[in-house]
Amino acid sequence: MRKVTADEIARLLEWYEGHKRTLPWRDEVSPYRTWVSEIMLQQTRVEAAKGYFLRWMERFPTIRSLAEASEEEVLKAWEGLGYYSRARNLYKAARIVAERGGALPKEKKELEKLPGIGTYTAGAILSIAFGVTEPAVDGNVLRVVSRLTAEPFDLTKNETRAGVADMLRPLMPEGKTSEFTQALFEIGALICLPNALPRCELCPLAATCDAHRLGKELDYPPRAVKPDKRRESLTVFVLECAGKYAIRKRPEEGLLAGLWELPNERGSLPAEEVSARYTGEVTPLPDATHVFTHVVWEMKGYLVRLPAPPSDPALLFVTPEEIRERYSLPSAFSAYKKHCK
Ligand code: SF4
Repeated sequence: MRKVTADEIARLLEWYEGHKRTLPWRDEVSPYRTWVSEIMLQQTRVEAAKGYFLRWMERFPTIRSLAEASEEEVLKAWEGLGYYSRARNLYKAARIVAERGGALPKEKKELEKLPGIGTYTAGAILSIAFGVTEPAVDGNVLRVVSRLTAEPFDLTKNETRAGVADMLRPLMPEGKTSEFTQALFEIGALICLPNALPRCELCPLAATCDAHRLGKELDYPPRAVKPDKRRESLTVFVLECAGKYAIRKRPEEGLLAGLWELPNERGSLPAEEVSARYTGEVTPLPDATHVFTHVVWEMKGYLVRLPAPPSDPALLFVTPEEIRERYSLPSAFSAYKKHCK
């Protein structure tokens, strides 16, 4: 297999110096800031993550301040970013780190023991914030390296990532490990694009890129066949009583585990059935869809104005302000949450 060369890395680093974006987590670097930004960026676009990152740092400026917050506050700060297990793990890990003195460990094995920190995130923290020669190999890096070397990587295998990390490690220049990691991220985000034609005409690696030479940029890496998403229908109830709205906790296991939600149930209930179930005025709301990684929710919604709260101990009636300020409802419910006003 052809390897990435030191000359290619030198060109990449030179390009990065002239083209890097100004991003809030680059203004001031610390292990905590790198950790939070990397967790946010796992499933969130850079543009969307910027505002969240700034607000997060204002609210939780240190690992200790995060550890001392309540889980409710942490989830509220994460509201809208989705994949809430990321926030829960950040919180759990912050509490562990705070108990041990408040500093993230500098050893890969120790970092990987913390909830939510896998090989990629550990590599990013080590290389960007600690200056350690440990690569961070994510989908962006695999794509760039696969095209550069015209190697048809099998993206489903962990060994592929480990092999690319082994190839890159000796190429990381001492004192420039942060630039190395971020340059690979940047070229994957700005030039060697995943879902559109890569912008090879602007790429500092084009002169030696094998996929480009072959005119087969989009063949690398080969696409993994994704299984179809499961579709589930759901009926969501916006239950209003005396200006307050019903929310309840989801089960501690499974999708959106332990988060607050609007009451709902499987299946697509007709209005007559909802009227038969609740005493009160029933108004149908527009249908909505929410796409998760493996499942799509197809939702039907009803606003139900109740004369008295139903005798369901799982329901908590709260004001619209409390929903805004205190309880975090996943964005899957945003089409119906806006009716709580
Ligand atoms: S030349 Fe094109 S395909 Fe090759 S690394 Fe650059 S952008 Fe990607």
